[in-house]
Amino acid sequence: TIMNEKNESLAIELSSLDRRHLLHPSTNPKLQAETGPKLIFTGAEGIYLHDMSGQKYIDGVSMLWNVNLGHGNKELAKAAYDQMVNVAYASSFYGYANEPTVRLAEKIASLTPGDLNTVFFTSGGSESNDTAFKLSRFYWQLQGYTEKRTIISLKRGYHGVTVSAQRATGIEVYREFSGSTDPDIVNAKAHLTECELGDRSHPEYEGCIRSIIEKLGKDKIAAVIVEPIQGAGGVHIPPEGYLQAVRKLCDEFNIHLIADEVICGFGRTGKMFGVDHWDVVPDFMSIAKGITSGYIQLGGVVMREKIRDAFTSYDGMLAHGFTYSGHPAACAVGLKNIEILERDGLIEKARKLGEQLEKGLLYLEDKYEFVSGSRVKGLLAGFDLMKDSDKNIPFEESVKASVSVVDEAYQRGLLIRPFDFEPGMNIVAIAPPFITADNELERIINIVDDSLAAFSRKFMK
Ligand code: PLP
Repeated sequence: TIMNEKNESLAIELSSLDRRHLLHPSTNPKLQAETGPKLIFTGAEGIYLHDMSGQKYIDGVSMLWNVNLGHGNKELAKAAYDQMVNVAYASSFYGYANEPTVRLAEKIASLTPGDLNTVFFTSGGSESNDTAFKLSRFYWQLQGYTEKRTIISLKRGYHGVTVSAQRATGIEVYREFSGSTDPDIVNAKAHLTECELGDRSHPEYEGCIRSIIEKLGKDKIAAVIVEPIQGAGGVHIPPEGYLQAVRKLCDEFNIHLIADEVICGFGRTGKMFGVDHWDVVPDFMSIAKGITSGYIQLGGVVMREKIRDAFTSYDGMLAHGFTYSGHPAACAVGLKNIEILERDGLIEKARKLGEQLEKGLLYLEDKYEFVSGSRVKGLLAGFDLMKDSDKNIPFEESVKASVSVVDEAYQRGLLIRPFDFEPGMNIVAIAPPFITADNELERIINIVDDSLAAFSRKFMK
């Protein structure tokens, strides 16, 4: 497409201002300063994003797996507007309350499993996880266990970037960034599939949850945090029985289980929450992203009755809270988002679209010998690229396999995500909005097909 002159000069201006004044998250700053933004978005509708040049892109990962209702939803915009002209902001500190915040807490309690019935609101996933860690420790202090402080997390888990969430994250580049520390957080050096709790024969068993508990002693450990399905670690679904086994382990040793539902929550996996696939009730649940489909910042921690009861028996100040804990406009959008999910049957739709996506990925696995390991739950999907998947031989680092395939897709108007943060790892993730039409999903699969073919022509001689 040819940019008109006005757009072109605006693009040049924004690009130079960006390079000079903006530091981007999860971006190479040197490259950004040299080349400026890759895309400048100017409009968005449904599953599409438009950039400055008028080019249209399919949002194949719902941006950061959060724009679950798709772009341009006027009902969500109106919910924010209506609340903003009424009470845009009011604090929940010092006992103040407002209607959307109270109503959303009740609504979440009605959706979460078991007796997860009380919500503490935050503005996002990192804040939610830090909050869960602090509330878990505070609970144990109230019970007289002043040493129960350690949080155990898994390799390839992603829990955010505030210091404690960062240290719980089991992706090296994030965990080690800036050398920040939190001595009370232990990352198991084994990931979901290596960490089957009974498997003592596995070489990485020593990094697993039980062995850490036994080594440190249960009286030092507050909680274990897991994503029901790992997202930013490359979309890893736990083996059957895994989450139930972690639940049992936590019960056995009197340790909290924190489920990080920041990606899975609110329908992404074809059920309301990730844990619902395995009928597990965690002690704390961290939520964010999908609660508002990304239209406005909101997160929260949901806790069980027993934990709430301990807090409501404490006759002092709960010295924790964010300025935006229980933001009225954010909560109004959250309520509307859940209303739309339920009214339009969108979680069931995500589940059904997931079946179609799974078929598509299996077809691609059949067609390309370097595609393997496809995994799909609802609209959360990933697959591996391996030079020889039968013999477990990865691509050479220089091939940049996942980045190359994702770049081919980008050139064909589809945004998807590569993961290559471990040697030999080449994963591609797909997670479109729930409002994707059947033929749009077909289109996504076709573009991935074409991108794999182009990659194959270049690298698979
Ligand atoms: N937890 C999980 C599972 C996530 O995927 C993310 C973000 O991608 C976070 C926590 C951090 O959330 P936020 O970026 O809103 O702080």
